[in-house]
Amino acid sequence: MIIFGARTKFLTASVSGQTCGHCDTGKLNLVYTIRYFHIFWIPMFPLEKRAMTQCPHCKQVLTSNELAPESRNYLNTQKSAIRTPLKYFAGLIIIGLFILFIVVATAFNKTGRYVNKPKVGDIYQIKSDTENQFTFLKIVKIEGDSLILAVHKLNHVPQADINEQRVFEHYDKDFTPLTFKMSRNNIKSMTKGSKNLVEVFRK
Ligand SMILES: [Zn+2]
Repeated sequence: MIIFGARTKFLTASVSGQTCGHCDTGKLNLVYTIRYFHIFWIPMFPLEKRAMTQCPHCKQVLTSNELAPESRNYLNTQKSAIRTPLKYFAGLIIIGLFILFIVVATAFNKTGRYVNKPKVGDIYQIKSDTENQFTFLKIVKIEGDSLILAVHKLNHVPQADINEQRVFEHYDKDFTPLTFKMSRNNIKSMTKGSKNLVEVFRK
């Protein structure tokens, strides 16, 4: 069973200069609460802030609807200046992080999947000897457990210049006739450790 609903928590309080209209003695406290939607008591997102006054002398509590219009306006102006603490967005934040995790994991898996089942025409983005610069290898033939890979003309392409569109429209034209053979296992090991194989591009 999923337990969910709205809860109210104390947010903050301050002292107003106003004198209590009921006992004409106490200086009113302004009390702010927050209502939020929860699932299993974990705040998901805030619903609304509420404001009330509280007299420390006669103990009268008035919600903003029960106040005179000018007091109500004052209370509401103050209320809008109070920031909602981040923890009341916990659920939304968790959901956002979860979606991000899925997106990243899927992107990573795409590389893993393509490396496990190579296809002629796949282009591998490979780290070069310089930090943050890359070269490419292209599968031109598959022979059993080995791949025949074409070497690219460029070997210092910055990451900023690499995306799927550019790879196929631009870099794909610049593979040299030079090829070499590499086992599938060696290619797989390049996705681990120092991750020399960064990404696989497939049309
Ligand atoms: Zn009072």
